[in-house]
Amino acid sequence: MEETSLFSLPEGMQVSQIQITENGLVVEVIATAPSSCCPLCSQASESVHCHYRRVLHDVPCAGRRVQLFLTVRKFSCRNPLCQRKVFAERIPTLMDPWARMTIRYCQQIASIGLATCGKGGAKLAARLGIQTTRQTILRRIMDLPDPLSGSILFLGIDDFSFLRGYRFGTILVNLESHRVVDLLPDRKAETSAAWMRQHPDLMAVSRDRGGEYASAAREGAPQAIQCADRFHLLKNLGEAVEGLLARHLAAHRKKETQATPDEQAPVWLPKSAARRSPQLEQLQRARREERLARYEQVITLRKQGLSYQAIASRVGMGASTVQSWLAVETFPERKPREQGNKLDRYLPYVVERWAQGCHNIAQIYQELLARGYKGSYASVYGNIVRSLPAGRKFPSDDDALRPVPVLSRQGAFLFLRRAEKLEASEQETLVMLRQSHPEVNLAYDLVQQFAQMLRTRTGGLLDAWLAQVEQSNLPELQSFAVGIEKDKDAVRAGLTWWINNGMVEGHVTKLKLIKRQGYGRAGFPLLRKRVLHAL
Ligand SMILES: [Zn+2]
Repeated sequence: MEETSLFSLPEGMQVSQIQITENGLVVEVIATAPSSCCPLCSQASESVHCHYRRVLHDVPCAGRRVQLFLTVRKFSCRNPLCQRKVFAERIPTLMDPWARMTIRYCQQIASIGLATCGKGGAKLAARLGIQTTRQTILRRIMDLPDPLSGSILFLGIDDFSFLRGYRFGTILVNLESHRVVDLLPDRKAETSAAWMRQHPDLMAVSRDRGGEYASAAREGAPQAIQCADRFHLLKNLGEAVEGLLARHLAAHRKKETQATPDEQAPVWLPKSAARRSPQLEQLQRARREERLARYEQVITLRKQGLSYQAIASRVGMGASTVQSWLAVETFPERKPREQGNKLDRYLPYVVERWAQGCHNIAQIYQELLARGYKGSYASVYGNIVRSLPAGRKFPSDDDALRPVPVLSRQGAFLFLRRAEKLEASEQETLVMLRQSHPEVNLAYDLVQQFAQMLRTRTGGLLDAWLAQVEQSNLPELQSFAVGIEKDKDAVRAGLTWWINNGMVEGHVTKLKLIKRQGYGRAGFPLLRKRVLHAL
């Protein structure tokens, strides 16, 4: 086989010799094209003025580093009108003028950087036989030209957290090509509007409900139709349904409860009160210090380049915890156990209800939720049972309530899904819910109509639906409808057009991954380049 065919070289380049040195392969290459074009006047010239050498790093070959020793020529420009007398021949597909490495070598380094990060990239490159530094990798990424976005007709816009819930940026996605077309350093309306003004082709903008991006699109792309995102619509509807069900479930359970007042009232003890001993505080401090020390050890080991698994076994903790610790930028304080505290505020209410004869914990729980309690059912149940005097058997949920209680949130889920996609037990629960009150039944019909409109893109039915809701006596759905009225055109478009923000959410997830690869140190310009060129 000819040696030349081993190396991919542009036409007019030939391998003259290959040497194996202790540093790898030295490949001598000569240029053989009979002529070259003057860079100034573009006229071809065959008059060779002189030869000279260039040394370039090239991509590794079968485990060896490769250096190209290139003999290229200078030509004399024969165009009498041209100011350039002598020019060096250009080989644009192989190298840039003055470059010390081939274009393909640069591209490999940039690709490694895009797939990893500066520091990790340098390590990976070394494994692949490419000697480079973190700074070079970052420079290669920053040197990449912005991809041409071309004409954008359908734009998806959303925000992302740039500095963990503190600073936000904006991500813009071409919904046709599925590609991120730009990142903006904030989520202000004027910034997005200015960007949109530079894209006069925009036909439709998909965005969340109302807010900054709505006014950005109004200002920057008044010609474009605005589409309210369907996911957000469903989420809002789900919340409305949850409120409605919470109200009805509480009322329904009140009727069901037939308990007699209990003389042996429980002894209520707020959980947090029991935890405030000095010994315990000391113990908690010690635990925190121990945890902090472990955290610092994890960071140190990570800096030394150990994998999550290796760190986990060295420190004696789970790999997933190591990963989650490294994912956040600062020491993750243990969240105070708030269950007791959360419930403590509501204890007087629980005591009062108990004294009134309500011994149905599921019902008490629902009532607490309606009053803003954020804890779990298990916590309420556990607290009440613990508080009962010894030997007193508590009437179990089974005795008190049949069928099994469904939480309003679960109920809302059943309302929104297609009935045929529900499992048999879920369908039973749904029937039970609908039979519990005519209002609930009516709400189910309305919710299903809306979901159907959303699935079949029949936004033309929106006005009729809103009229039905107005006539219904369902305050939760009515307030959802009021929200829609404020942004009705965009909602109708969202229910009609194919575009929506699901794809944008996907890109935000990817962006978060890229952000974490840089250990949160990458500034906005680097993050932008990396996202725009994401593999
Ligand atoms: Zn010339």
